[in-house]
Amino acid sequence: MNAPAYDAGSMGLMLNELRLPTIGRLWSDFAQRSDKEGWQASQLLGVLFEHELAERAKRRLERHRAESQLDPTKTLATFDFGVVPMVSKAHVMALATGDSWLEQGATILLFGPPGAGKSHLGSAIGHALIDAGYRVLSTRTSELVQKLQAARQALQLPSALAKLDRFDLIILDDLSYVRKDQAETSVLFELIAERYERRSLLITANQPFSGWNNVFPDPGMTVAAIDRLVHHSTIFELNVESYRRRKASDKQNARRRQLPNNNDEGAATTL
Ligand code: ADP
Ligand code: MG
Repeated sequence: MNAPAYDAGSMGLMLNELRLPTIGRLWSDFAQRSDKEGWQASQLLGVLFEHELAERAKRRLERHRAESQLDPTKTLATFDFGVVPMVSKAHVMALATGDSWLEQGATILLFGPPGAGKSHLGSAIGHALIDAGYRVLSTRTSELVQKLQAARQALQLPSALAKLDRFDLIILDDLSYVRKDQAETSVLFELIAERYERRSLLITANQPFSGWNNVFPDPGMTVAAIDRLVHHSTIFELNVESYRRRKASDKQNARRRQLPNNNDEGAATTL
């Protein structure tokens, strides 16, 4: 049989219908090249399929990055491990590949004073996991508690929790800022219990467990939440001075060193 001929218009319609926009954009140039260079038909098809797949993977990654709500600047590349010697870079890099701890639904807990780098480190792990193909959601704990509380009032809590199941990891930032009087925080316990041993959490908190009695409605629930969280967990304690404060004082010291008189800034202004 004679091979049928197709014009650009009908090709465009078919590719549109098939939802193959990248091939739609590229096929005509590649077809010309293929004609000129005498490619096999399978080569032309293979090249076009590869481009469609690569473009899809790129778009998926962009979608996952956007839905994560992670700060794009807080990555492993911008995190200085030198200022937190108690955090093993090798350990963090291993966790950043995901794999077994995410499959176990394990937890990462980051404790430390304000400015120690907990949110940055959590975000950096989140970005690396997205790069590795996982889905991540980062949220202030209080914000998620409010949303879940609203869902409970609308009798939608189970479906709200089920929707969060699509995330391999939820980063709950600043858990210890949540106050039981601010909202009914038993929804937070329900999230923890729901994900236990199935889906992972990464939690940052200024206060280690001892301060969590202010978070949950009663001590029994606090114990039950902590019990689940620590069962399969990695804990990093970033007990360092605030990064911002340290940078500010480094800058000040550097300025002092530059002054010819080296004792006070007043001397410099009179020069
Ligand atoms: P925390 O969540 O512990 O209060 P953040 O992660 O918000 O602290 O850190 C405060 C600021 O300092 C952020 O701008 C963060 O990017 C920066 N920072 C903290 N630790 C580091 C680090 N080790 N390397 C690079 N930047 C850091
Ligand atoms: Mg923080």
